Amino acid sequence: MNFGRDTCARLDSSDPLASVRARFILPEGTIYLDGNSLGPLPSAVHKTLSSVIQEEWGTDLISSWNRHDWIGLPRKVGEKIAALIGAAPGQVVACDSTSINVFKLLSAALKTQEGRKVILSTRENFPTDLYMAEGLSQLLGQGDCELRVVSANQVRENLDQDIAVLMLTHVDFRSGRVFDMEGLTRAAHEAGALTLWDLAHSAGAVPVSLDAHEADLAVGCGYKYLNGGPGAPAFLYVAERHQSTLQQPLAGWMGHANPFEFDTHYQPAPGIERFLCGTPSVLAMRALDTAMDIWADIDMQEVRNKSVELCELFIRLVENSETLGELRLASPRNPAVRGSQVSFAHPESYAIMQALIDAGVIGDFRDPDLMRFGFTPLYTRFVDVWDAVSILERIVGDGVFREARFRERLRVT
Ligand SMILES: *Cc1c(COP(=O)(O)O)cnc(C)c1O
Repeated sequence: MNFGRDTCARLDSSDPLASVRARFILPEGTIYLDGNSLGPLPSAVHKTLSSVIQEEWGTDLISSWNRHDWIGLPRKVGEKIAALIGAAPGQVVACDSTSINVFKLLSAALKTQEGRKVILSTRENFPTDLYMAEGLSQLLGQGDCELRVVSANQVRENLDQDIAVLMLTHVDFRSGRVFDMEGLTRAAHEAGALTLWDLAHSAGAVPVSLDAHEADLAVGCGYKYLNGGPGAPAFLYVAERHQSTLQQPLAGWMGHANPFEFDTHYQPAPGIERFLCGTPSVLAMRALDTAMDIWADIDMQEVRNKSVELCELFIRLVENSETLGELRLASPRNPAVRGSQVSFAHPESYAIMQALIDAGVIGDFRDPDLMRFGFTPLYTRFVDVWDAVSILERIVGDGVFREARFRERLRVT
């Protein structure tokens, strides 16, 4: 490598985000490049959860719904997330899973788009988003809801008068390619369509300006860049101008205007709370709530700058390595349209990734031939990037990945 580890160490010593790493519990000897799939454990979450269990649940019991404001958590956590995605207060709640939130918002949006029945999306989209749209289409019937899937480069030309909702994942989960949220939202509006943005790989990874770009609806994940823990609550955004007209189909009591009046009939809450359904998982919500506090003093632009530098360094080190000559960049080369991850294609990607994980460098594999590496600026150091590439060189160079144990397919890749 023609870029020394000492240079990386110097970059770390002048990194304004360097001290944030101490807020996480990271196992010794592991280089974690998969925070885009499951964020690591923030040390504050570890502490909070034991007191939530002992004091809030264990001692204060049911009075905690009021005393510790459990009832306010979806909204409170939502506001913390809102600050990261360019949403003014009152438009985001933390709830359910991303998949369920896609279903709720797609159904609600379709219902207001009279005479239009098509959900337009891309075949590169994350499968669950497409599956939820397919399920909705089966439920409502093709005559009332149709999923139309096109390639990522053909979105604009397919925005016609049939489209009710344009559903896009802002940052592609495989390649990291970023859609132009501002331009596509405008194009969708000109065609009379609403937009639903999936921010699973955007929230906490790249700056997002939902309000400024006049997005209509959005969903996202709590367990990736937001570090809320495995299966953390997801979030949803509904622009204020749509809140009184959209009615979601999962009309649970937590979305009722007055849940504790125990009325026989459903009456949606006036604001963003109408998009809630049932009782939240309080332990998971408290974990995400505490994980979100990490962001309170963090400038998203600083995160973005470091993310670009980490990704650029990784690409440069891999591409300058003779040993790694067979790896082909599968992410956009231009950092302006790339999220906080880098993917490389190789016919033996699965086995190479398993060997890398065995050697303490954790990334992941995405079918059919991608090695995916997430660069999360809150805790990834420049020396980690350097070390990861040097371990990758060793694994590819000496062919250790060819061992049979690295070929065995696990259930989760
Ligand atoms: C991770 C991810 C999801 C996950 O959805 P769940 O309901 O949490 O399983 C959805 N969409 C995208 C784009 C993702 O990357």
